[in-house]
Amino acid sequence: MPADATIPQAPTAVHGNASQPYPCHAAPEPPGSEPFIDYGYCRTSLDHQPPGARHGSSDPRCPRSCPHKAPERVAVQFTKVFAWNGARAAAALSKAHRDRSGK
Ligand SMILES: [Zn+2]
Repeated sequence: MPADATIPQAPTAVHGNASQPYPCHAAPEPPGSEPFIDYGYCRTSLDHQPPGARHGSSDPRCPRSCPHKAPERVAVQFTKVFAWNGARAAAALSKAHRDRSGK
């Protein structure tokens, strides 16, 4: 039973189903625009997590078929740089990789 009975269980125009893929996989460009940091990839896919986890790079809602999913080796580097040097330094790394690889 939902905690708030006023919220409909079926998806509506303004809220979806948390088990469905993020809209990212169908978007032509990776998410992110001013004033937010452009990471070059789906942000969730850059948090390196072991296979089987349900968040970060293993979050099934950014599916393997998503054209903006970061390669695992980029996620590993990104996670370290994020911890050591912060979000902007990590974004520079992931964006440079994406610009070099062209995808
Ligand atoms: Zn994605």
